[in-house]
Amino acid sequence: PVRRREVVHLMNKHLSRRVVDILRDLGRVGDELELPVYAIGGFARDLLLGGKNDDIDISVEGDGILFAETFANRHGCRIKSHAKFGTAVIVFPDKAKIDVASTRLEYYETPGALPTVERSSLKMDLYRRDFTVNTLAVRLNPQNFGLLIDYFGACRDLKDKTIRVLHNLSFVEDPTRVFRAVRFEQRLNFQIARHTENLIRNAVKMGFLDKLGGRRLLNELIIILREREPVRAILRMESLGLLRFIHPDLVLDSENIRILDEVKKVVTWFELLYQQDNVETWVVYFLALTSLVSDDSFWETCTRLSVSEHYRERLIDMRVHGEQVLKVMEQKAARENTVRRSDIFFWLRSLSLEVLLYIMAKTRREDVRKFISLYVTQLRGVSCSVTGDDLKSMGLPPGPRYREVLDVVLKARLNGEVSTHADELLLARQELARK
Ligand code: ATP
Repeated sequence: PVRRREVVHLMNKHLSRRVVDILRDLGRVGDELELPVYAIGGFARDLLLGGKNDDIDISVEGDGILFAETFANRHGCRIKSHAKFGTAVIVFPDKAKIDVASTRLEYYETPGALPTVERSSLKMDLYRRDFTVNTLAVRLNPQNFGLLIDYFGACRDLKDKTIRVLHNLSFVEDPTRVFRAVRFEQRLNFQIARHTENLIRNAVKMGFLDKLGGRRLLNELIIILREREPVRAILRMESLGLLRFIHPDLVLDSENIRILDEVKKVVTWFELLYQQDNVETWVVYFLALTSLVSDDSFWETCTRLSVSEHYRERLIDMRVHGEQVLKVMEQKAARENTVRRSDIFFWLRSLSLEVLLYIMAKTRREDVRKFISLYVTQLRGVSCSVTGDDLKSMGLPPGPRYREVLDVVLKARLNGEVSTHADELLLARQELARK
């Protein structure tokens, strides 16, 4: 068993000073209210694995909302509470959040009625969790600060790198856990236990996953596709027969796997270069995963996943538009020896970064990949210094000519035919005089 002192040592080693202070304060407030307080779930799991997890989940044996209110008053935080569930979120001034849950609920069904008390111990509460590795609790009250509570063999499974459910009906109770199992297995580099894997295969065979709501399925899929190694998780889902619950046509072949592997390379390349740029990597992986299915199947996939109508339109547009541009580029590259920088720019300028990365992964042509990379690293930042105001002062009446003239100047700039502001102005004047 892991000793209290070791847990405190791990906290000091892996958590910031601020977080450790907050944990101790949480324990003090617990003592004041005479309530046992625990940090539980992913936080405790990652602490023992020596990783960092800033999401603090607190469980209070007693009135968690009163606890959250008391803590929040002390620390100038706001809280959002759900009386019915006995849960609250403590929100710090810098927006950091702590989730608080009560293992024992006490609420009034109607005003004036006797309180309905639902008693449930910490152990019962932890028993409802998905996997043993998520059932650890760390006591925070000062006397026992750092005491590790392990009812279900979590430490053993962490040591053995095993993902294990707590009981045989786990996946029947909640089929999203099938996807969560894959996610934790791949993220932590663990192995789903044999019996647990059999339960998954059984749930697949019995069609329990059909009952899974689209929204929840989409949520799990997005989380998986946002992980560091989505391709491994996708392959694992395929081997467990999970992809067909997203759509029957989602069958991986070697071409599909090649595209997914390329996405990994391209996304890694992009993130190294542009840490500050926001790319929804899950969208890139989603486009790659569904790359080879028909448009109809793509539509059905989005429907199965309850993607909102607005977002579905966007995804379809990304897919169709990306494919069109890729085709044009590939044909042009195959026919001609030189492609101008302005061509690349005008082909690609209406595509989002997600689509750019997707088609960069999809193409088999090295030259086309280079064009896209040139656009992403250099061309997309290019603009001309002549503006609409300049054209206005040249007397150009409002209309589509503005766009045309500015594009002519931009094109010349991209191809290095003009470089100074004066050159650009001259070119704009010539262009205006031409028509
Ligand atoms: P992450 O690092 O991805 O946030 P996490 O372990 O915190 O991982 P969450 O999805 O945030 O995972 O869930 C928080 C906790 O709630 C988990 O540790 C898990 O035990 C529990 N949990 C979440 N979803 C389920 C579920 N479907 N069934 C049972 N327990 C769940």
